[in-house]
Amino acid sequence: MTLSAFRTRFVWMFLFAPAPLPVMAQARPAAPGPLAAAIESRAPAYTAVARRIWEFAEVGYQEEKSSALLQEQLRGAGFTVESGVAEMPTAFVATYGSGKPVIAIIGEFDALPGLSQDAVPTRKVLAEGGPGHGCGHHLFGTASVAAAVAVKDWLASSRRSGTLKVLGTPAEEGGGGKIYMIRAGLFQDVDAVIAWHPGDLNQVTRATTLANNSAKFRFKGLSAHAAAAPEAGRSALDGVEAMNTMVNLMREHVPAETRIHYIITSGGGAPNVVPDFAEAYYYARHSDMRVLDGIWDRVLNAAKGAALGTGTEVEFELVNSVYNVMPNDALADVMQRALERVGGFAYTAEERAFADQIRTSLTGTLPPADAAGRVYPAEVGLSSGSTDMGDVSWVVPTVQLSAATWVPGTPAHSWQAVAAGGMSIGSKGMIVAAKTMALTAQDLFTNPGELTRARAEFDRRLGGFVYKSRVGDRKPPLDYRK
Ligand SMILES: [Zn+2]
Ligand SMILES: [Zn+2]
Repeated sequence: MTLSAFRTRFVWMFLFAPAPLPVMAQARPAAPGPLAAAIESRAPAYTAVARRIWEFAEVGYQEEKSSALLQEQLRGAGFTVESGVAEMPTAFVATYGSGKPVIAIIGEFDALPGLSQDAVPTRKVLAEGGPGHGCGHHLFGTASVAAAVAVKDWLASSRRSGTLKVLGTPAEEGGGGKIYMIRAGLFQDVDAVIAWHPGDLNQVTRATTLANNSAKFRFKGLSAHAAAAPEAGRSALDGVEAMNTMVNLMREHVPAETRIHYIITSGGGAPNVVPDFAEAYYYARHSDMRVLDGIWDRVLNAAKGAALGTGTEVEFELVNSVYNVMPNDALADVMQRALERVGGFAYTAEERAFADQIRTSLTGTLPPADAAGRVYPAEVGLSSGSTDMGDVSWVVPTVQLSAATWVPGTPAHSWQAVAAGGMSIGSKGMIVAAKTMALTAQDLFTNPGELTRARAEFDRRLGGFVYKSRVGDRKPPLDYRK
């Protein structure tokens, strides 16, 4: 997913609003200070780490080398690292310090299938059909480690009490790693969660996302010769088609911002054999999980009705379910101050040429070419992606930003995102994110009143609602990419 990645193309609530202007600071923000300087001095090392993870390009739950490399950085810096947590071999928790408050920084590191691309400004596949970091999670995990190491050094030298954690969360792209870490109690004692996401603008996030349920519907019928004995067969593909037809009729009668999409992953082997197995893979999304619950029940009923009407049987496997993100303005205020202190970055002449070339391949209204040099007003309203950060935000007050790791106008999950993420534009954006997260954490450790305000807002927004993941007691889908 992506928090901000689709923003420039599609923020529903603000569809007709003029493009936001960058923040014109009234007063010059304070200098970013020693934490930011410490991160800057280590930027070449972190750039190398991110580049290696970009090259590994490991997909969800198979991120062995990527996860190990990030853990190695944290161990080397003095964190205690527990790996393989919550029944996921590539998930980890790194901890430094003790006592309250407990601040956690999230790091993701999974790649996407089929997005192989070289770090060049034209389409050039590195490995045919291979994976690539189209969502920039190689930068995500590395920036989070960079921020955490700087904050840890500051905690140590200033002899402050408090606990800093890095939660290494696998398989964000559809595998829902964070959900299982929540279930294992790994967020239980955390007071605030800090995260970010690669994007094309430097911008704090105050937007929500779409809650998203996904499931595979498996229909079973009876095989028969399609010409000689069709009356003896019951087509599993008929079941899938009947379900799809009913869901497509349903679209008219759901809230307008609902999104439902499917593919047929199995539809039989030959036209002259009545298929005894067929499968459809569905996503359904809405900006409020409580509304999605009702929509999802109707999708399930369409599956049951389709099976009944076609004389087949159906079973379904809920692959993933993530909540919409609950924003927290109190924490976003803290992060906004941090981001304005850090500021954006300028392109070199080579980066400018790279970006200009990339921009010739992008469509739609693009943000200004020099957008990376600015700080934009916070993203508000609804971002049309989905993420398992959503679940985290219903358990702990959570704040996120996006940083301009991609050429302005680049959508997530594109070859252009892989390309910029593999070169210096990506790593410069990553350093903006690392500094901003470090300054945010420093502020929270220093000013406990900010955490009190964040918690009060969190409780008010929750309004007594009790979070419960829709995945129930299922095991992490460790093989969902196999
Ligand atoms: Zn993504
Ligand atoms: Zn992502």
